[in-house]
Amino acid sequence: MYKLSIKNLSKSYSNGVKALDNISIEISNGMFGLLGPNGAGKSSLMRTLATLQEADTGSAFLNDIDIFNEPNELRKVLGYLPQEFGVYPRITAEQLLNHLAILKGISNSRERKELVKYLLDKVNLYEKRNKSVKGFSGGMKQRVGIAQALIGNPKLIIVDEPTAGLDPGERNRFYNLLAEVGKEVIVILSTHIVDDVRELCTNMAIMNLGQIVYHGTPQNAIDELDGRVYQKMVPREELEVYAQNYSIISNKMVGGQPLIHISSETNPGEGFELIKPNLEDVFFSKINTSNTLV
Ligand code: ADP
Repeated sequence: MYKLSIKNLSKSYSNGVKALDNISIEISNGMFGLLGPNGAGKSSLMRTLATLQEADTGSAFLNDIDIFNEPNELRKVLGYLPQEFGVYPRITAEQLLNHLAILKGISNSRERKELVKYLLDKVNLYEKRNKSVKGFSGGMKQRVGIAQALIGNPKLIIVDEPTAGLDPGERNRFYNLLAEVGKEVIVILSTHIVDDVRELCTNMAIMNLGQIVYHGTPQNAIDELDGRVYQKMVPREELEVYAQNYSIISNKMVGGQPLIHISSETNPGEGFELIKPNLEDVFFSKINTSNTLV
């Protein structure tokens, strides 16, 4: 059983942006979704936990490893798939993984060979092992990224916006792989895509403006909103009026016409229909972007 405990973590950049504002959270085994709009501070949190940048204040422990004071101990048990997994060189998948395994300290060549074979197999790229990674599709590249993140049997796996640029099939395969890996260790999946979290994660947090604005299960968050979300198709030119009179959660175009979701304690009438809230409603109501959506 693993536990990641983050306490009072803050981080400001030299330009004055406070990317992490006193974050405290505990995360244990399984798939954990970190959801937030662009700019919320997700990558800053991921990079800080991956010991790629220093926090201003606060502490983080993975069981008894003091992440900020013993970064090398953490790196031994960390698998990290950054948002941009570098430039893919003109070498084969097998060569790349072999090289990265050397960098991760696996010096025995026979052990390394077996590990690389195991990883290629696990991410379903064994057949393509002799092909240059430069020519791989987005999904295949992400699978190489996951394979490298699994080198060294990590206990904490951090994947930052991993599904950007994947087609639906690739995304599904990627989900399945992560879910399998996530059974025994902590996997933190940082994303702005609500579906990623809904389909994969048992626990989640929502971040906005450097703070955690929700922490719990996706279902609990949905239950909290139950009975309060109404929808209506509205004429485009009346959006402004609706925005003034109702608390709009989201506004989506459906067949060229705006479909708005609002939050209301009582039935607003006026053709609004009570609906079962979904995780997207949770996301938008927690980050409270109603004013900027219309
Ligand atoms: P997210 O991953 O949720 O999109 P980030 O952690 O990348 O959020 O960014 C949080 C905030 O910090 C944003 O306002 C962003 O512009 C700012 N930021 C991120 N990295 C840097 C940096 N290296 N220097 C200055 N500001 C940064």
